[in-house]
Amino acid sequence: MHLIACPWCGPRDEVEYAYGGEGHIARPARPEALSDGAYADYLFMRRNPKGVHAERWVHAAGCRRWFNVLRDTVSHRILAVYKMGEPRPEAGP
Ligand SMILES: [Zn+2]
Repeated sequence: MHLIACPWCGPRDEVEYAYGGEGHIARPARPEALSDGAYADYLFMRRNPKGVHAERWVHAAGCRRWFNVLRDTVSHRILAVYKMGEPRPEAGP
């Protein structure tokens, strides 16, 4: 069992959550001004780091709110959980 601490509900089993991809992906201000390649990069190209990764998660079987998680992809250890709109915290040891 892996616990994820929803910012609103507290720690819950991972089965209550759904992964939503990489966090902090900003929609282009003027997408119509982008080339097809640049727009495809925005839509599909994501980082796949070995180590600390900022991710979006949703508490699908709970409050249904979205939030960000800073997770180490090697150890699966969750380093931080923070609400949407909050800045990405520094990754701790
Ligand atoms: Zn929740």
